[in-house]
Order: sequence, then C-alpha cells, then structure tokens
Amino acid sequence: KGPDPDLVAIAERMSTVKHKILVLSGKGGVGKSTFSAQLSFALAGMDHQVGLMDIDICGPSMPKMLGLEGHEIHQSNLGWSPVYVEENLGVMSIGFMLPNSDEAVVWRGPRKNALIKQFLKDVYWRDIDYLVVDAPPGTSDEHISIVQYLQATGIDGAIIVTTPQEVSLIDVRKEVSFCKKVGVPVLGVVENMSGLSQPLADVKFMEIGSSVDVTQKVISCLRENAPELLNVLACSEVFDSSGGGAERMCREMGVPFLGKVPLDPQLCKAAEQGKSCFEGNNKCSVSAPALKSIIQK
Ligand code: ADP
Repeated sequence: KGPDPDLVAIAERMSTVKHKILVLSGKGGVGKSTFSAQLSFALAGMDHQVGLMDIDICGPSMPKMLGLEGHEIHQSNLGWSPVYVEENLGVMSIGFMLPNSDEAVVWRGPRKNALIKQFLKDVYWRDIDYLVVDAPPGTSDEHISIVQYLQATGIDGAIIVTTPQEVSLIDVRKEVSFCKKVGVPVLGVVENMSGLSQPLADVKFMEIGSSVDVTQKVISCLRENAPELLNVLACSEVFDSSGGGAERMCREMGVPFLGKVPLDPQLCKAAEQGKSCFEGNNKCSVSAPALKSIIQK
C-alpha cells in the first residue's frame, strides 16, 4: 500500500510553512483565541509572514477577534485564499464560511476531521514563517486529527492557555498528558486572567452594594491630592491561586511556564474590536508587556 495521498498533499502544502504552533486549552473561555490572535499580531509585527488557522469548528471566533466579520474566502487555482488582516497576516476560519455568526455548526467528528484535512490540504498560505493553529478546547477527535496530519510535516509544539484556578489546571494536566502521548512538544503554559491589573485612574465603578462609595471616595481624594498615584496599578487576585497556579503545575509536570497575563479591560476591548493590543489606539498598557515577554520566549 502506498503513502496516504491526503498526507502527501498536506506535506506538500505545509512545505512552505516554516514553523507550526498549536494553541490549546483544557477549557473554553480561558482566553485561548485571544492569545492566538495576539500572538499572530505580535509575530506579524516582528515582520514575520504569519498564518492563523482557526479550527475551533463549533465556536470560531477569529473573524470577530481580528475584525474580519463578513469577509469571505476566495478560491484560486492555487487553493483557498486566507483572508488578510495585514499584508503579512492571513487568517483561515470556518467562521468565514457560515452564512451568519449566529449559525450553529452541529457536526459529528468525521465531518469536522474532513474539514480540518481540507484546511490543511487546500489553503494556500504562500511562504510563511509561522502557522498558528487555534484548536478547540479539550482533547477531542479534532486534536488527534490535526496532530496526525501535521506531525508528518513536523509540529514545533503546543502552547497551552489556562486560568489560575484548580478546575482549569486539572484540564491542563490532561492537555499536557495528551501532548506527551501524541509526541507534541509542550512549548509552555500561559496563565491568563491571572489577577486583575489596571491603573487606578481606569478603575470603573459598578453599583454593587455600598462598598462602591468607599472606593469612589478614595479615588476622588487621590485625584485631588495625589494625582500621580492614579497611574499606579491596582492589582487584585480574581481566581483562587493558593495552590500555586499554573507555575507550580508546570514545575510538577516538567513543562516550561511562559508567564502570566492579567485580566485587562483594555485587552478585552482590543479583542472585541478585532485589534492588536501592541500598537495603535488599542495598545494595552498592562497586558501587552506581559504578552510580549511571553511571546519573546
Ligand atoms: P477561549 O478561546 O479560551 O474560549 P476567548 O479568547 O474567546 O477564550 O476569551 C473569552 C473572553 O475573555 C473574550 O471576550 C476575551 O476578550 C476575554 N479575555 C481573554 N483574555 C483576557 C484578558 N487577559 N483580559 C481581559 N479579557 C480577556
């Protein structure tokens, strides 16, 4: 029996891609897509040629996170063309193929696997330095397929995104063990939403009980008497990380810990608007430096 023709086609397509990075998470909602999007913006900002492939088939968020809603994929004789956010940043997502973003994709495993295979076989990425693959949460069928298809052409490794609390870390351990079983190197773990940090001046008040009034009075007092203190970062722990969070888990499991990214309202806004958090009007004073230092590792 000869080689699998699909694998041959994928290997040929992937021969123009230098590095392939999988972004994984144990749970949904921990910021995996936000990280994938910002990682791609950062790499593109360093003048690399970057492709971002969103294979979160049931919850494709890339069109929105990159400000590309309503765009469509075009086909040429070279294959499917990604949608370009910038000249050196192309994106492929099933989100571009759905009639509207409210449409649910109710597919069983084999159909999802077929689409992933098609994405890998048919998308024409040009010569790129990095392909960032935003995978669905968990360790499902799709993960096994993507690993299987990509492994033939070499995967650099996986970055796992988590929040600090134990419920999320339990699933990260599974994710690490999945990577070890299938032979994908874990490039490292990112702890996202690791506390809330923002300049005092940006603290917004919500009407919850009477504690608001006290905080508001403190801030007004600072505004009048010591405005320079308004630039000081107000940091607070949101999730319980008394167990040592992701950093300790990484030590225990022998995988690299890449760093912490705080919950940052500016990052949330950048993601909502589909913008890079590193430059322009959406530059995030708190989370961008944290993300930069992680990406440089
Ligand atoms: P996942 O891909 O893991 O399901 P998302 O990346 O879609 O998670 O993030 C879920 C929500 O949390 C999004 O609205 C995103 O903008 C927001 N978010 C993610 N990380 C942060 C952060 N560090 N600070 C503020 N908001 C964040």
